[in-house]
Amino acid sequence: MEMITCDLCAKPFATTGPKICPRCMKRLDAVYEKARAFMRDNPDESLDVIRLADQISEDVRDLEMLVQMGRFDRDVSGPAVEDRRKKQLLEELRKNLSEKSGEGKKYVSYGEERYGKR
Ligand SMILES: [Zn+2]
Repeated sequence: MEMITCDLCAKPFATTGPKICPRCMKRLDAVYEKARAFMRDNPDESLDVIRLADQISEDVRDLEMLVQMGRFDRDVSGPAVEDRRKKQLLEELRKNLSEKSGEGKKYVSYGEERYGKR
């Protein structure tokens, strides 16, 4: 294990790969649940990450990280009726991200790896 600094809170922690510390990871899980619930309850809402963060009173950086990690992709690929709506939202989130940082792909494979094995 090596020591690196967390991408979110910048605290050093020991890791075998993930760039987000266990504490932030736990928080991200909670933020993800909130965001998903909000999208489910407000299917007509037009959102970008900043508005969504505002609506659920969470840090926009956490939401950006979730999008980068591909967490919302799993919802999108489900058999739900509102698939198209979710895809739309995801595209909006992604667009918003790439406009801001230009490195939106960085965490996708990592996120799938981390959460695929749980
Ligand atoms: Zn952290």
